Amino acid sequence: MAVSSPLLPPLREVIARHGLAASKALGQNFLLDEQLLARIAAIPGDLEDSAVLEIGPGPGGLTRALLRKGARVTAIEMDRRCLPALAELGGAFPGRLRVIQGDALKQDHDALMGEPYAVLSNLPYNVGTALLVRWLGGQEWPPAWSSLTLMFQQEVAQRIVAAPDTPAYGRLAVLAQWRAHAQLAMKVHRSAFTPPPKVMSAVVQVTPTAMPEGIDARQLERVTEAAFGQRRKMLRQSLKAVPGALRALDRLGIDPQRRAETLAIAEFVAIARLLTPG
Ligand code: SAM
Repeated sequence: MAVSSPLLPPLREVIARHGLAASKALGQNFLLDEQLLARIAAIPGDLEDSAVLEIGPGPGGLTRALLRKGARVTAIEMDRRCLPALAELGGAFPGRLRVIQGDALKQDHDALMGEPYAVLSNLPYNVGTALLVRWLGGQEWPPAWSSLTLMFQQEVAQRIVAAPDTPAYGRLAVLAQWRAHAQLAMKVHRSAFTPPPKVMSAVVQVTPTAMPEGIDARQLERVTEAAFGQRRKMLRQSLKAVPGALRALDRLGIDPQRRAETLAIAEFVAIARLLTPG
C-alpha cells in the first residue's frame, strides 16, 4: 500500500477526548468496531489513490478505514464538534483528507469532487433517502460517482434492492435499478452502533449500468410516482392522470388490470420510453 498506516487511538478514546456525545437530532449512531469498518470500506474494491466522498464522518471511524485503504477522502460533516477529531486524523494522513463543514444536502458533490469518485457513508438516517434519490436521479448518466456504498435502515435497504411482486418493491427500487445495479452487501446488527438504534441496518452497494436509450428520466419518475402513489389500484386507474400512459400500456400489451407492484422494471422503462418525445 502506498500510504503508510499510522497508529491511531481507539475511536472510543477519540470520542471521549473530544466530547462527542451522540446527538439524536443529527442521526448520530457511531460505528467503533474497526474490523467491521474495514469490511465496509472493502465493499467497493480497490480504493488506492481513488477519490472518495464520505457523508457524515462523525468521529472518523469509516474515514480512517478509507484512508488506510489509500483513498483520498473528502468528508462532509454537519457537526462542528467533530472537526478537531477529524483534523487530528487528517494530520496522521497528510494531504489525504479534506473536511467540509456543512449540510451534505446543500452541496454540489460533483463540483466539490471535480473528478470521478466513489461514495461511502454510514448515512444519517434522516437524510439518507434524500441523498440517495439525488445521486440516482441526475439527468447525466453515467454519473460522476462510480459506486455508492451506503448504510441504511434495513427496511430502506430492502426497498432499494427489492424485486417486483414483493411488498418492498416501489419507486425506490425502480429508481435504484433502472440504470444501476443495487445489491445488499452486508447486514449490520443494531448492537454494532453506539448508541444502538432501534432497528437493524444494512449496507447497500449501487453501481451504474448503461442507461436505456430514448428515455427522459423525468417521464419514468412521473409514471412510477403515479403508479405507486396508488399501489393497490389497477394501472388503468392509477395511470389515468398521466397523459399517454394508458395508450402506452395498450401498445405494449400490458394488461391495465395489473397493479404497479407486478410490473418489471423493464416494463416501467418501456412505458417511459413511449412517453418520451422522440
Ligand atoms: N461515519 C460515522 C460512523 O460511522 O461512526 C458517523 C455516522 S452517523 C450515523 C451520521 C453522521 O452524519 C453524524 O456524524 C452526523 O453529524 C452527520 N450528519 C447528519 N446530518 C448531516 C448532513 N445533513 N450533512 C452532513 N453530515 C450530516
